[in-house]
Amino acid sequence: MRHLLAFFLLLLFTLYHNTAFSSNLKIVATIKPIHSLVASVTDGILEPDLLDYTTSAHDYILKPSDASSLESSDVIFYIDDSLEAFIKTFAKDNKELVQLSKTINLLPARSHSFSKQIIDVQGEKDLHIWLSPENAKSMILSISTTLSNIDKENASSYNHNAMKAIKRIDQEVEKIARELNDFKNQKYIVTHDAYQYFEKYFGLNHPSAILSLEEDSYIGMKSLMKLKKIMKDENVKCIFSHSPEDIIKPEALSNDAKMVILDPIGSDIESGKDAYLAIINNITQNFKSCFVE
Ligand SMILES: [Zn+2]
Repeated sequence: MRHLLAFFLLLLFTLYHNTAFSSNLKIVATIKPIHSLVASVTDGILEPDLLDYTTSAHDYILKPSDASSLESSDVIFYIDDSLEAFIKTFAKDNKELVQLSKTINLLPARSHSFSKQIIDVQGEKDLHIWLSPENAKSMILSISTTLSNIDKENASSYNHNAMKAIKRIDQEVEKIARELNDFKNQKYIVTHDAYQYFEKYFGLNHPSAILSLEEDSYIGMKSLMKLKKIMKDENVKCIFSHSPEDIIKPEALSNDAKMVILDPIGSDIESGKDAYLAIINNITQNFKSCFVE
């Protein structure tokens, strides 16, 4: 009987502590992976808005519907002032702008070895921060702290959700790390340097070459020869692209080269709290597929 009573008291306590109050707070996140982390913290309390990006986080043009959503929001979660430069135009006294790059140890941007003009990346930071699960967990904590301060009534729910989301990332990432174990020594080149945080976290090789096609409209003959030599010397068979619109043709580089898309922002993935792990899983499966099939 005492056990039963203790059980009911515990149940009551748990229920009380996890009671989420629906909130009228208006929250916007800029890109899908960040929106997903926010949605995992606000689960059962509110639905954050997501801006309507199509393919890349770099060439986004603000749409009128997104502008009005940003205008009427109370909190905006975004990566960095230099990536989402339009955010500062929405700064207001009663609006919280949360630049998530502040909570992360940023890696320096890597040099773009195949650019036709030399691009100075000195001092520039790599902002694809969400591709490290460690960073995702830091951002979840930052999101939870921010929201708990604004919406105190739901503080324990935000915190509870954050802990749950972190635990889930830990579990999934352990599986992913095991899956990538056999691929740590594989060589590859990338057309866009988005995966540095992912590589470092999972202990993958760094790319044999970085093409940075978003700055180059084409690859010059000299660069092409250099690239072909690298691929031959290092026996590189895989080219990772971040968009189907890349102009490079794998057959121009090597007879048996393959090109596979690794989608850093999850263009084809449904938004919501599950999107973050779906994006990481999708990159993992596509990365592996280039080497095994
Ligand atoms: Zn990028």
